Amino acid sequence: MNRLSGKTATVTGGAIGIGRACVERMAKEGAKVAIFDVMQAEGEALARELAAEGHEVAFWRVDVTDEAAVKAALDAAAARFGGLNVMVNNAGISGAPKPTDQVTEEEWDRVQAVNVKGVFFGTKHAIPHMRKAGGGSIVNLSSIAGLVGVGGVSPYHASKGAVRLMTKNDAITYAAEGIRVNSIHPGYIWTPMVENHLRATSPDLEAAKVAAGSVHPVGHMGEPDDIAWAVVYLASDEAKFVTGIELAVDGGYTAR
Ligand code: NAD
Repeated sequence: MNRLSGKTATVTGGAIGIGRACVERMAKEGAKVAIFDVMQAEGEALARELAAEGHEVAFWRVDVTDEAAVKAALDAAAARFGGLNVMVNNAGISGAPKPTDQVTEEEWDRVQAVNVKGVFFGTKHAIPHMRKAGGGSIVNLSSIAGLVGVGGVSPYHASKGAVRLMTKNDAITYAAEGIRVNSIHPGYIWTPMVENHLRATSPDLEAAKVAAGSVHPVGHMGEPDDIAWAVVYLASDEAKFVTGIELAVDGGYTAR
């Protein structure tokens, strides 16, 4: 409780999945939280639910590929909550699972627009608010696919590899200003993204779930909350000496 009290956070892609768990955990740890997402009904419902429990949470409809919308919503959230201390660049898409020789230019560009440009816009327009606050924490959602090859989704790998090194570059650039930047690399986490991916690649969802779980040394997939706790740590002052790291939360997947 209260590991984030006094802090204001924004979570992109916060309506469902990992982002939703981050919103819930951070609010319960005392942060005021802005949810940015394109899923308006789900985002508004989550904000209402948490507000009814006494948390300060609000929703903005934001497409992270739209720079003006990202800036306007960050400015509005900072004005409403009294600043911005934590930016979680979580919104992401997997793209269609196909070998590289079958990926279209449009498919490639869409994945980079959300997963890379979205992180760029979120970072770019969070920095002035963190500078004003005298520091902050940026947490970028990469993936095991930003560390090792998984196979079959090259635009996604390219985007998550980009996020990994963008994180390290920004960690160095802003360290002297007290702004920390870290990346998290989840293994398979049971969310709508993974469910859709497994439905697209296998006729038997239950068998696919077991198979996807078994690639982790612990023998199963993770839960959104496993990632949310890592976000709480990196967002908190407990991590004040931690910047530029790649935190794998992957059931041992990349330990091999
Ligand atoms: P999800 O598909 O379940 O949820 C993604 C959220 O992002 C949704 O709320 C969606 O509406 C939002 N979003 C998508 N495009 C957007 C846009 N243009 N603007 C604003 N919001 C947008 O995905 P998830 O599994 O919760 O994944 C969250 C993040 O974690 C992603 O960056 C993903 O690549 C990463 N990740 C997930 C896993 C996993 O196994 N689930 C593993 C590694 C990394």
